[in-house]
Amino acid sequence: MITAGAESLMRMRLRVEQDVFVVRQLGREVARAVGLEQQDQTRLATALSEVGRVMLTVGHDADVEFTAEPNGVPTLRVAVGNPLSGAAAEIGPQLVQVGRLVDTLEVDDGETGTVVRMARRLPASAPLLTHERMDEIRARLADHVPGSPLDELSVQNQQLITALDEVRAQRDDLARLNAELEETNRGVMALYHQLSDELEETNRGVVALYAELDEKSVQLRAASEAKSRFLANVSHELRAPVTAVIGLTRLLLDPSSEPLGSEQRRKIDLISGTAGDLLVLVNDLLDLAKAEAGRVEPQWSDVDLRAVFGQLRGTLRPLATRPEVDFVVEEPRVATMRTDEMLLTRVLRNLLTNAIKFTADGEVRLAVGERDGAVEFTVADTGVGIPAELHERIFEEFYQVPGSPAVMGKGTGLGLPYARRLVGILGGGLLVDSAPGEGSTFTVRLPAS
Ligand code: ADP
Repeated sequence: MITAGAESLMRMRLRVEQDVFVVRQLGREVARAVGLEQQDQTRLATALSEVGRVMLTVGHDADVEFTAEPNGVPTLRVAVGNPLSGAAAEIGPQLVQVGRLVDTLEVDDGETGTVVRMARRLPASAPLLTHERMDEIRARLADHVPGSPLDELSVQNQQLITALDEVRAQRDDLARLNAELEETNRGVMALYHQLSDELEETNRGVVALYAELDEKSVQLRAASEAKSRFLANVSHELRAPVTAVIGLTRLLLDPSSEPLGSEQRRKIDLISGTAGDLLVLVNDLLDLAKAEAGRVEPQWSDVDLRAVFGQLRGTLRPLATRPEVDFVVEEPRVATMRTDEMLLTRVLRNLLTNAIKFTADGEVRLAVGERDGAVEFTVADTGVGIPAELHERIFEEFYQVPGSPAVMGKGTGLGLPYARRLVGILGGGLLVDSAPGEGSTFTVRLPAS
């Protein structure tokens, strides 16, 4: 009956009803000896006395053997067998409830008889089942003197009272826990209702806010479109008379016209200069208004950047005539890109003109390269620079950094907003990095394709 690795601890034979009490006591003793906890000792003893009782009712002596399995998860096993084969069908159904008292309970019909096998795992706190300990347990069990059925009845009663006490204590605990749980549930529900009310309130607020925002942005868009239309119309209307004034002053100053006194010539020069400035402003305004009104349609093509750089070098060199400033247009490190050539050229010319305008000495440098999958143009100068807090303001219409000395020419404050618009139309961004006295770098980032 011993399985591999298992060691026998004790055997006994059940012959008469009184032996059921003895096997019960013995079961408890063995369970205690191998280290099962109090309640498990009672469970095993009860299971064993029930198995013993059922075995005796089928009408034959039964052998009981306790074994301990020290390997793996240490386990106590009990086998109760009689030599009657074929009794499992009768015994099995009577032991269904008993099976719940142990980890496993099997009834086997063999050629040599019927065996009921039970097993219970030992808790982690049980002492190790070494050979010495097994010997000790065997010796202790051999010395065990079984008590009378009355003694066993008294022990059983005691255990029953303890169990009933425990059940009552557990029931009280459970009632208390239930009450606490109910209280907590009420609190949670109250919190939930409060939160969902607040959420609903907030949601209503957010929806209203969105509606207001939508309305405002429609109004803003309408106002901005009206402004752009107004600017475009006004500047367009202004261009013709201003051009006419310039033409007239040219006529007056022409050597073939009637001779003028020096004072008259000075005044007409003044009119001509002012009209020229006005024309620049009107043209800039018209450009910006057109770009803002979405009237600039890019013409996409594969643009040869060497040609663009060559053209910029040629057209801007006459502006960069001061020997203190080096005007450097690098060889492009990107040969071609898909963009609008005219818009790109205008942006770069704008930035280069500014750089030349605000640089007294050092250099102005144009370069292009590829970075993180984008094409990056940089216009870097060693000029006056721009304080960090004004880096965004310079992109506002008409804004000019106060006290920034332009080395040459006046501006309108419309160049950068226009350039940023155009770069946006080309699908990119325009950024500035600059500090007073350290020069500025404007970067145009455009998608590579
Ligand atoms: P402006 O016609 O005055 O050049 P922009 O819109 O092109 O108008 O530029 C706005 C202002 O930004 C300029 O007036 C100048 O104060 C500042 N700025 C632009 N580019 C530079 C630069 N490269 N270095 C220093 N300041 C600059």
